[in-house]
Amino acid sequence: MRARAALEEHGIRTQVVDTLEEAKALILERVQPGQRIGIGGSQTIEQLGVVPELESRGCQILWHWRGRSPEEVLALRRAQLTADVFLASSNAVTEDGRLVNVDGVGNRVGAMVFGPPKVILVCGQNKVVPDLAAALDRVHNVAAPQNGRRLKTGTQCAVAGRCTDCDSPGRMCSVTVIIERRPQKTDLEVILVRKELGY
Ligand code: SF4
Repeated sequence: MRARAALEEHGIRTQVVDTLEEAKALILERVQPGQRIGIGGSQTIEQLGVVPELESRGCQILWHWRGRSPEEVLALRRAQLTADVFLASSNAVTEDGRLVNVDGVGNRVGAMVFGPPKVILVCGQNKVVPDLAAALDRVHNVAAPQNGRRLKTGTQCAVAGRCTDCDSPGRMCSVTVIIERRPQKTDLEVILVRKELGY
């Protein structure tokens, strides 16, 4: 996979695996029992099914999808920034070695680049695109419509399937972060899975 070599050239350790089980095993190898694990909003991480195994090892899971009130959701988003390990996916991975992410709140893209000393991004092959233009197109016209329908944002991408650069209160695209090289203080690793995973 070309993306793997390009990410490695950019200082981002990258593994390619065939199955979800292999991806899960790599995560479990890297996490120590009892660590605090932040999780970005991620269908991919949910699909992996790794969270119950982390909990069984005594890890504290900081996942705002589990918050029971707006206050708790916000506190979990903030806590992710000081986790020991942060798990998420990337909205797009370019074959020339860039990780492209768009976020509405910013906790997910923030934690990816500074805060948790260890970050693992798990990305299905459906996230791999040729270049930055294709990545931004994917983010707005492939990922956002699906996320918008899931979150019931009412944004045009969710309704019509195409981005209109909206000003909706439900806009999911407030911040765009393009990781071009490994952030200097973060041990950032990518696991590419030869499967369709997440949006
Ligand atoms: S800017 Fe608005 S319409 Fe475009 S992808 Fe983001 S939320 Fe959807």
